Amino acid sequence: MSTFYIEQFGCRATQADGAAIERQLLDRGCTPSSSANSAEFVVINTCTVTSAADAQARDAIRKIHAQNPAAQILVTGCYAQRAPEELAALPGVSHVVGNSHKPQIPSLITAHRQNFVPLNFLTPASFAPQPQILNGDIFATRGVLVAPVLGGEGNHTRPILKIQDGCNNRCSFCVIPYVRGKSRSLPPETVLSEIRRLSESGFQEIVLSGINLGSWGRDLSPRAGILDLLRRILGETDLARLRISSIEPLDVTQDLIALFAGTDRIADHFHMPLQSGSDNILSAMHRWYRTEHYARRVNLIREFLPNAAIGADVIAGFPGETEADHEATLRFIGSLPFTYLHVFSYSSRPGTKAAALDSQLPGDVIHRRARELRVLGEFKSEKFRESQLGRSQRVLTLNRPEKFPNAPWTPALSSNYLQFRITEQLHANQFLEVRAVSVGDSYLSAELDRSPQSETRPESQPSDLRSLVSDLSGLS
Ligand code: SF4
Repeated sequence: MSTFYIEQFGCRATQADGAAIERQLLDRGCTPSSSANSAEFVVINTCTVTSAADAQARDAIRKIHAQNPAAQILVTGCYAQRAPEELAALPGVSHVVGNSHKPQIPSLITAHRQNFVPLNFLTPASFAPQPQILNGDIFATRGVLVAPVLGGEGNHTRPILKIQDGCNNRCSFCVIPYVRGKSRSLPPETVLSEIRRLSESGFQEIVLSGINLGSWGRDLSPRAGILDLLRRILGETDLARLRISSIEPLDVTQDLIALFAGTDRIADHFHMPLQSGSDNILSAMHRWYRTEHYARRVNLIREFLPNAAIGADVIAGFPGETEADHEATLRFIGSLPFTYLHVFSYSSRPGTKAAALDSQLPGDVIHRRARELRVLGEFKSEKFRESQLGRSQRVLTLNRPEKFPNAPWTPALSSNYLQFRITEQLHANQFLEVRAVSVGDSYLSAELDRSPQSETRPESQPSDLRSLVSDLSGLS
């Protein structure tokens, strides 16, 4: 049977797609390979949100082909949907499969295997078979690829569950709707059963994610909403803690904030894309809120949840952004209680409205503005960490990072998205009460104050969790 390796790029949604492909390949008897160098099939699951993401995928393909010339390289994901011919022209690529055809990947690999003639160093390029391109109308795509993903900051302790794909908005800088299609949602019963299975398997925290999570349920019949879904998860599952990934500001309603504030089973964590603190630029970006609407939500969150994490994505150097616009963004961010920022340098994406504007800024201006925003973001994060000193917090222990296998501390994550280092060695995946005693450069050092809750739930070892997750899910 075929051996395969999946190389992942991109956001949580793309990683969730990769996990679903992996699950299906395992179900068909394919064997995972420990590296791309020893696999017969290498699946490259790409992102195309910036030109840098495209370049990373191309570099990975070239490197894999150089190190393992016999491998069949199947490229999929958002870049494969946007520019399939570009990828098909790269050496070693046997298939390019857009997001529209992603569910066909497992059968493609198993069928291809039957007629497979391995390539080798001696195969002249002119004799190599032409790559097969499968790419169709993404707006006709239905369904959501489903499989919980292990990874991220939690190092396999906190699965990510993608419950929504696609986006009906058209922000002028964003290529995502063109490569992921219309918004579509996982039915509520499927969401609930996935969460129950994960929770019963021992997971304590699950991260709900989507391309535009706040639009979950609007395409379903009967129509549903994210608020109702969260209420049902609280009422109909025993999950200890749920975390919501990015959610658009206008979907953060007073009722949603009140729901978060009324339970300790939803993490006190709001990540709301801001993109710019200048109303001129928000308008040019075709964002549908202005700074006053955004600020109102941030202030409401602070009122209900004084210690919540509040994070934002910001784009530096959108076409036509003046120094005054940039300064307005710095001032706006400075005036609000953000606890962290994700800063992106503007990157022109083919096919978007912003790419056609003739007011593109020079790279050095874009990067200088991004740097200034990052400095501000780091300052805000540090102030937030300092504000949490001495406070007792319930944290979830995580696996020790690979680069610190014997560290005398244990990493942990709080409800309000702070990284902790507890000053002793502990098992992953338990809730503990800790008190922060000092501030590190990206974390808080904390002493243990073991809580009763940590002893009521059975402990699960990460290796068990990994195999449990690989038993879950397929396509829906
Ligand atoms: S909301 Fe805007 S930025 Fe987000 S995925 Fe949709 S179009 Fe892109």
